[in-house]
Amino acid sequence: MIKTVTIVGAGIAGIASAIRLAKLGHQVHVFESASHPGGKLRQIEEKGYRFDAGPSLFTLPNLVDELFTLCNQNPQDHFQYQTLEDICHYFYEDGKQFVAYKSWDKFSDSLTEIASKNEIASLKKQLQKAAFRYNITAPVFLDQCLHRFKNYLNFKTLKGILNSGKLNVFESMDKENRKLIGNPYLVQYMNRFATYNGSDPYRAPALLNMIPHLEQNLGSYFPKGGMYNIPKSLHKLAYSMGVQFYFQHTVEEIVTEGKNVSSVRVRNLKTHEVFERRSNIVVCNADVYNTYKFLLPKHKSPEKILSQERSTSALVFYWGIKGSFAELGLHNILFSDDYKSEFQQLFQTGEPTNDPTIYINISSKCEPSDAPQGCENWFVMINVPSNSGQNWNEIAAKAKVNILQKLQRILKKDISQLIEFEDVLDPIKIEQRTSSHGGSLYGTSSNNRFAAFLRHKNFSSSIKGLYFCGGSVHPGGGIPLCLNSAKIVSQLITEDFG
Ligand SMILES: Cc1cc2nc3c(=O)[nH]c(=O)nc-3n(C[C@H](O)[C@H](O)[C@H](O)COP(=O)(O)OP(=O)(O)OC[C@H]3O[C@@H](n4cnc5c(N)ncnc54)[C@H](O)[C@@H]3O)c2cc1C
Repeated sequence: MIKTVTIVGAGIAGIASAIRLAKLGHQVHVFESASHPGGKLRQIEEKGYRFDAGPSLFTLPNLVDELFTLCNQNPQDHFQYQTLEDICHYFYEDGKQFVAYKSWDKFSDSLTEIASKNEIASLKKQLQKAAFRYNITAPVFLDQCLHRFKNYLNFKTLKGILNSGKLNVFESMDKENRKLIGNPYLVQYMNRFATYNGSDPYRAPALLNMIPHLEQNLGSYFPKGGMYNIPKSLHKLAYSMGVQFYFQHTVEEIVTEGKNVSSVRVRNLKTHEVFERRSNIVVCNADVYNTYKFLLPKHKSPEKILSQERSTSALVFYWGIKGSFAELGLHNILFSDDYKSEFQQLFQTGEPTNDPTIYINISSKCEPSDAPQGCENWFVMINVPSNSGQNWNEIAAKAKVNILQKLQRILKKDISQLIEFEDVLDPIKIEQRTSSHGGSLYGTSSNNRFAAFLRHKNFSSSIKGLYFCGGSVHPGGGIPLCLNSAKIVSQLITEDFG
């Protein structure tokens, strides 16, 4: 039966949910506070430079393709991407470096400067184990709703449960990597993947050592035209499927009658007009923490779930650089010399360390038109804690000095002289722009071994017709998981409403 569905937020999960629900024949309306689709996927265009302001690493592109195929479109007619041969360039304080190539032969050649043959073989084994872990857990924990009993009654889930002993949720990622690989450079490389969902490798369970499977085994990609083309092309697809978007419209309340959703109260940010839109199905793509706090003020919040530790946030400097650096690629990591204390600082003191690991993304390496000729667009990011009232102007000023000094030490150049454009993103701006509690990038962290079960489910048990998608709910943050959450929500709505 055709239903009217209202979606709160046009983040990647909101748009993907809209496409799936429109394809099922529902009438879909999306209200978005910002003036553009994509949420954290944004772009900046200034002084001849273009920056992808949010995500920069793209894995599992098949999840985007799938949405076009679902709507009987050829994905390549609308969205193209290239496979990365050199995935990431790594630099250490002592001058050592390597490149993680897609080809194992090239990757292992590049590692010979920092590791023995045996250690490289151990890394290979650990990457194979990552594939095993991913294949066992994805169907259970990532591709379906964890909170419907019937989902436990299928072969893949039972297989996952039977293999759970091999997944290792009792040791930390770091402990397992030290035990199985040993070499400190390679351990730091493997530990780094905890940051892909904003976690701490010294506490996150070893099960998360499966994350590099996505980037290293399945591959990393770069969308033609940049990351912003992901929401841009999906927004177009949704529009072509009849989805109605209302930008600069904030949902102020999800209204209920008895135990059912009945409507949303919306404010048009241009005219300040407030109106109510009736709808028995609401899919909320806003951060679940702020949804309970602001949009459902009359309802009891699931305190235990909402009080889980937040994932890290980011401090990003967008720099237009007058110059080019042959030693850098699209993705680059300049490691901190003391990784353990970096994470202790992040999760305990609420401030970044003075020697942070620096991530530099340069999309002009793949898309030359993203910077003027002879120049590069640097997205320079460090992990920072989510906002809990710190002075971010002070932190950013100090971090900039530390970053420039580290770049000078490693790249042997005074980068400050080359910056001709600068913009800065901090946790407060992330929260203001996307309503993510504390500006965290991935909702809650996965530092707890039960994290998968402690994320909010994709539906409300107390309010019929209310569903949740996006990075703050099951199965978690990052583009691929957000796209999965949209799939789960559309399945749930079909089960519940036909
Ligand atoms: C700097 C940075 C780097 C990142 N790097 C990566 C990466 O490399 N790879 C990766 O996969 N992921 C990365 N991420 C994480 C990724 O961006 C997110 O997990 C994902 O985009 C979240 O999507 P979402 O669907 O949850 O919605 P969000 O992007 O959080 O968007 C939610 C939308 O809802 C809107 N909204 C909220 N409340 C309301 C309301 N009341 N009314 C109307 N609209 C509302 C907001 O305006 C927003 O547009 C990064 C994030 C950031 C910020």
